[in-house]
Amino acid sequence: MSITAIYPGTFDPITRGHSDIVRRASKLFGRVIVAVAESPRKEPSFPLEERVSLARSALAGLANVEVLGFDMLLARFAREQGATVILRGLRAVSDFEHEFQLAAMNRQLAPEVETMFLTPAEEYSFVSSSLVREIARLGGDVSNFVSPAVARALDERYADTRANGSDSHR
Ligand code: ADP
Repeated sequence: MSITAIYPGTFDPITRGHSDIVRRASKLFGRVIVAVAESPRKEPSFPLEERVSLARSALAGLANVEVLGFDMLLARFAREQGATVILRGLRAVSDFEHEFQLAAMNRQLAPEVETMFLTPAEEYSFVSSSLVREIARLGGDVSNFVSPAVARALDERYADTRANGSDSHR
């Protein structure tokens, strides 16, 4: 039986931590859908189309992985896509409470879908999209944490902020 797993998130932007989870999942499931949420409440730094295309470029080469944008209830999108597994990443205990609540809610909404968790390689356990954005905004090197295309996009996204920023040493 080939299982379709859906890995939802904001991916603002996709990091090597996210990619590590997708690579592990691609070996376990027949099809993996990376589902990039519109997430208007989070006011993402990158528009949905750019988050999708950056995820596609970071994950190019993984044959059974697809990247799709969505703006609806995850339980409904999972059903539409024929996914029976929702995949989430766990970095530390601090992720657990929120993830546990989400998993319970998704079980209420779609009882036939199981949430499963994967942990990334240790070197990515402290990487988050928000930290990476903050480092890029302040002119730091993010190349260890994101793919080259994402590093370029971050550079462009924050070029103005840095040029007009308060760091007088630059
Ligand atoms: P969301 O807005 O849904 O939290 P994110 O893009 O921040 O979206 O994260 C999507 C999923 O990936 C979450 O389950 C999160 O815990 C996980 N994740 C984020 N960063 C990492 C990482 N460095 N390693 C493993 N999992 C991660």
